Amino acid sequence: MTLARTTITTRDGATTTLIEEALEAFRQRLRGPLLAPEDAGFREATRLWNGMIERTPALVVQPTGTADVVAAVNFARDHGLLLSVKGGGHNIAGTALADGGLTIDMSRLRGVIVDPEERTAIAQGGCLLGDLDRETQLHGLATPAGFVSETGLAGLTLGGGFGYLTRRFGYTVDNLLEVEIVTADGEVRRANREENEDLFWAVRGGGGNFGVVTSFTFRLHEVGPTVYGGLVAWPFERADEVIETYRGLTADAPRELTAFLVMRRAPPAPFVPEEWHGRRICAMAVCYSGDLADTDDVTAPIRALGDPVFDLLGEKPFTQLQSFLDATQPKGKHYYWKTEFTAESSDDFLSTMRDLAAENPVRSGQMIVAHIGGALNEHDRDDGAVGNRDARFAYGAAGMWEPDDPDGERYREWVRDAWERFRRFSTGGNYINFQTADEGEERIEATYGDNYDRLVEIKRKYDPENVFRVNRNIRPE
Ligand SMILES: Cc1cc2nc3c(=O)[nH]c(=O)nc-3n(C[C@H](O)[C@H](O)[C@H](O)COP(=O)(O)OP(=O)(O)OC[C@H]3O[C@@H](n4cnc5c(N)ncnc54)[C@H](O)[C@@H]3O)c2cc1C
Repeated sequence: MTLARTTITTRDGATTTLIEEALEAFRQRLRGPLLAPEDAGFREATRLWNGMIERTPALVVQPTGTADVVAAVNFARDHGLLLSVKGGGHNIAGTALADGGLTIDMSRLRGVIVDPEERTAIAQGGCLLGDLDRETQLHGLATPAGFVSETGLAGLTLGGGFGYLTRRFGYTVDNLLEVEIVTADGEVRRANREENEDLFWAVRGGGGNFGVVTSFTFRLHEVGPTVYGGLVAWPFERADEVIETYRGLTADAPRELTAFLVMRRAPPAPFVPEEWHGRRICAMAVCYSGDLADTDDVTAPIRALGDPVFDLLGEKPFTQLQSFLDATQPKGKHYYWKTEFTAESSDDFLSTMRDLAAENPVRSGQMIVAHIGGALNEHDRDDGAVGNRDARFAYGAAGMWEPDDPDGERYREWVRDAWERFRRFSTGGNYINFQTADEGEERIEATYGDNYDRLVEIKRKYDPENVFRVNRNIRPE
């Protein structure tokens, strides 16, 4: 960057001017780049998955190691700057970017070290999910994470994290052994169940509120490298049959089988017969990670439905299964959703979701029910801040449209209306990582339930000035 005076937003929302000397001194403490909006690389560094978010930091730091992170946290704290941390940039509320402030972009820290003997992996704080899967799968190992490989590992883990393996192994944080974290005072701390255990408890669900995590250590499990799964879809007219099968399947299936129900219009993808493009379908995304010799038995109810519109089920590398939905989530479109957790799969619940799918006006919109019940339900409510130990399904309405679509606001309203109709099935909790920018503090409190007060206490201890506030914020006061 050219060192010129920079006007930058402070934590209290005012602005301050950083003089050239201060910027130069900061830059000398860094090994990674310090970028201003006119610099090459700034655009990419501030690109978010959700194109609806309009935020531009004044400065972006791209650390090459923990020391850079320490320098950035100290600089932001000492100058009272608005600070954010960007992992994969996938948060729908756009919490990766500090508008007018300083953003720490972790994208240069994507290393993963696997210990196949100990079955652990250390992943740096800027990894995407695909980075971790790729390295762990070299050894036929994995830990549960999400179902789109370009999602940031840090944001997902810090909020809890779930995916195809959650029924077997719990939330992502249930498999977290340790973090290295730079707290607001600029200290580098190790947190695990023995050391700084309050901090370790808080980062297992409490989001980016407690510092910048520079590395995560995960427990790994034997998975794949070949699993069975993919996407299969039927005409929406057969939704009742599919739903009935889904209900039975999710009641009886072994934990190695995870199926998500997706009701939407068929995309114009090469695997969809042309006459089906744009027509409503009822689909399942499936992952079976158990003994492949049992696949036919385990998936028999799905097969018995017969006559699919398309059927991409089959044996495939686990890494492929973890990324086959990536293309459905391109960066830069406008995204909006509302979601809840539920413990039930009643007639009323599933048929409400079906009815909403039938009237959904958003062309690239979907109603989703994700089965996650199993291992996560066996932990105590206060085993980590994540809470939501009664969740058996995550569900919701999601929409995607072009930035210039004149119907955008109408679509948003529809999603909100749908939410009003399906909220009654909620456990009362919800997922912090799915909250949109317009969801208020009461939603944050509802996420954590009984764990909320303890989170506030720990926030007060490690970040009394709320240096880390560009997130789903737990305020220290
Ligand atoms: C297409 C898509 C699919 C998804 N699928 C799943 C899924 O299957 N399962 C699931 O559980 N969730 C899923 N999510 C939700 C996802 O967990 C959140 O969007 C999460 O915030 C993404 O993390 P990120 O690092 O990409 O986010 P970012 O937008 O980069 O950051 C989000 C927040 O995390 C904090 N943060 C990021 N990196 C760090 C760090 N190193 N240290 C401290 N704080 C940090 C920041 O404070 C920021 O507030 C999905 C989201 C999308 C968009």
